[in-house]
Amino acid sequence: MGLCNKTAVKLVLKGTPKPVYRPKRPVAYSMENVVEDELLRLECNGLNAVLESNNYPLPLPEDIFAKMANCRIFSHIDLSDAYLQVPVDEASQPFLTINTHEGLFQFTRLSPGIKAAPGAFQQLMDSMLAGLKRTTGYLDDILVGGSTEEEHQHNLQMVLHRLRDYGFTVRINKCNFYMHQVKYLGQILDADGIRPDSDKIAPINIVYQSIQALPLSFKQVRDRTTSDHDLQQVMRFVNDGWPSKKASITDAQVQQFYLRRDGLSVVNGCLLHGERLVVPSCSRKRVLQQLHTGHPGVERMRSIARQYLYWPNIDEDVSKLVRSCGECASVAKTDRKTNLESWPVPEKPWQRLHLDFAGPMDGQYYLILVDSYSKWPEVVRTKDITTKTTLHILRGIFARYGQPETLVTDNGPQLTSEQFEAFCDTNGIMHLKTAPFIRNQTD
Ligand SMILES: [Zn+2]
Repeated sequence: MGLCNKTAVKLVLKGTPKPVYRPKRPVAYSMENVVEDELLRLECNGLNAVLESNNYPLPLPEDIFAKMANCRIFSHIDLSDAYLQVPVDEASQPFLTINTHEGLFQFTRLSPGIKAAPGAFQQLMDSMLAGLKRTTGYLDDILVGGSTEEEHQHNLQMVLHRLRDYGFTVRINKCNFYMHQVKYLGQILDADGIRPDSDKIAPINIVYQSIQALPLSFKQVRDRTTSDHDLQQVMRFVNDGWPSKKASITDAQVQQFYLRRDGLSVVNGCLLHGERLVVPSCSRKRVLQQLHTGHPGVERMRSIARQYLYWPNIDEDVSKLVRSCGECASVAKTDRKTNLESWPVPEKPWQRLHLDFAGPMDGQYYLILVDSYSKWPEVVRTKDITTKTTLHILRGIFARYGQPETLVTDNGPQLTSEQFEAFCDTNGIMHLKTAPFIRNQTD
């Protein structure tokens, strides 16, 4: 294994915490298990609680991808057990003392469980890769590009020189060299540019598209799905397997999903039937009212529902509502053309954008921005969804595509803050805060 010879990580304690004694491991495991378990224990037992965190920032995807603009050839380098290739300075090693059946041991290298590790490692990567062209490192993931084979070869050699110079070794079977297309941080990069890796975001986009058709935000749908007892039971069956007989399901509501069980999936805390979002029961009435906007009649309402939405007996619920509506009956007679589009159709791309958040999923959120003219989605993964982060992401996107005339959001706290409003004001963006697609609640 490699050992970085340029720097040693210093762990900084908060104040002067009291030393604690930890009993030794009772049995002889292989050393690997001892290390792993002890690291977990270090984490649980409070080493991290008394360590200062390392706030060195991770690079932003937009900065990374800006570096890769116009590349046609790529190589992806994977360091083997990257953190363990970085020494910890001598003064910090006593903090990493573990008790084993063979006595006390001290770690001399950085371990992934230590909370300062990612920041310290990123800092090291940034200084190692500083000045290298079309090269970027996100933690232990190094990406090298080039617009021609010759340029790429040159850039790659420079990186490999630096790695050797720093004492790092790479895991050759996880590296990929001279590729025309590469997946990096959820994006696909190739000669055509950068686009989201659809494998990763397709389910999220499906949920989002369905939610666009609803008078509800993503968070509302997820929260209501979470508190919907029947849907929770269905989701447990989807995840853990269905009973072999329908009759063994006692709940009639849950039973109704049984025949559909092969088409059900759980995405991001929401239930999908095929590409249709399953609407939690407490929202169905409101969704029906939304579908009914403009009295489109039974066929049109059903066809929209079939595209985006599902719940058991949705077709019957639609007919029942339409039958009870005099207006729908007279519309059907005169065959008046109705327009379902609640938002006016924009005249050009990037005129009106809809912003929402999805997640958290595996500790990450997704900021989703959709151009209502082209339906082009921008999806940005983010660790948090504060006003500050949201504005940072929007600035990055607007820097590339320009500013929209109108930005539509829900009333999330990060989108109604003074800072957010000031941003829209300063940039001349009309900010509409509304639950999407509600036009006329009295229909
Ligand atoms: Zn009607």
